Amino acid sequence: MYTPLEKLGDIYDNNYEIFVKRDDLYPISGGGNKGRKAKVIFEKCLHDGKNAVVTCGGAQSNHLRATAIMCRQLGLQFTAVIHANKPGVLSGNLQLLQLLGVRIVFCDMSEVAEVMDAEMERFRALSFDPFYIYGGGHSVEGTYAYVQAVNELASQSPIIFDKVFHASGTGATQAGLHIGFGLNEFHTEVIGISVAREQQRGKAVINASINEYLEHYQLTFQVKPVHFDDSCLCGGYEKTTKELLSTISQVAKLTGIILDPTYTGKAWLGMKHFMDRHPTTKKQKILFWHTGGLLNLMAY
Ligand SMILES: *Cc1c(COP(=O)(O)O)cnc(C)c1O
Repeated sequence: MYTPLEKLGDIYDNNYEIFVKRDDLYPISGGGNKGRKAKVIFEKCLHDGKNAVVTCGGAQSNHLRATAIMCRQLGLQFTAVIHANKPGVLSGNLQLLQLLGVRIVFCDMSEVAEVMDAEMERFRALSFDPFYIYGGGHSVEGTYAYVQAVNELASQSPIIFDKVFHASGTGATQAGLHIGFGLNEFHTEVIGISVAREQQRGKAVINASINEYLEHYQLTFQVKPVHFDDSCLCGGYEKTTKELLSTISQVAKLTGIILDPTYTGKAWLGMKHFMDRHPTTKKQKILFWHTGGLLNLMAY
């Protein structure tokens, strides 16, 4: 069940050969990294014998959609706590949540923890044994999913990439990739392009995830410094710029790869800026790790 690895080649004629790891095609409706994380998170959920789930996210959360689908596949109860006002039109991920018929509770950002606790209590009162998942699937299991993803890549292709670019949000994907490439002793540099957080906090959270993972599995190896780039925030989470939107449109026309304005468009823009800032005469292999986001585009 490997996601495809595609070669785009030297599309910008600048000696950077671009490959794409198509986690946007991860086998769950809507695809993406939240599907890959959810797969591992639900293994733990079932292992722990749980029969209901509570988690949270924004109105267009890919994590909520992947979690809702997994709950329906496995026959588990689910409450999606959404920190947003209920929009007039339910589009994209939210439309799928509605279609899946899961319980949705809208609340204020400041009330999320309280509402999630209340939903956990509600399940217990109904004699369920609920499982609590942090927003974005941020967890050791989420990190593990991306350590495994690097092993998947390594068994799929002998190519050693010079750089890997991807959209970085809560940090678990980047932590997993960072550890995964590190454990495989590749010289590959993982560059996370921030979609929301600024440098200092983003990096701190990724480092915390890395340390939590190493402690959990009792691993001791020298981790390289984390490379987290916050120069393509485009004004912040779910904010866009003209440059971002035109990049998404150019990439679609040039390659057939569909990016989205919330996550992967920013990652591609960050990769493009990097190549522009670092002209090279020596051929380099770059991997763009496509983390999904099609439904974010459709809801935009
Ligand atoms: C959540 C998400 C990310 C960021 O992943 P994190 O593990 O939270 O850093 C990137 N791309 C897409 C499409 C996402 O939904």
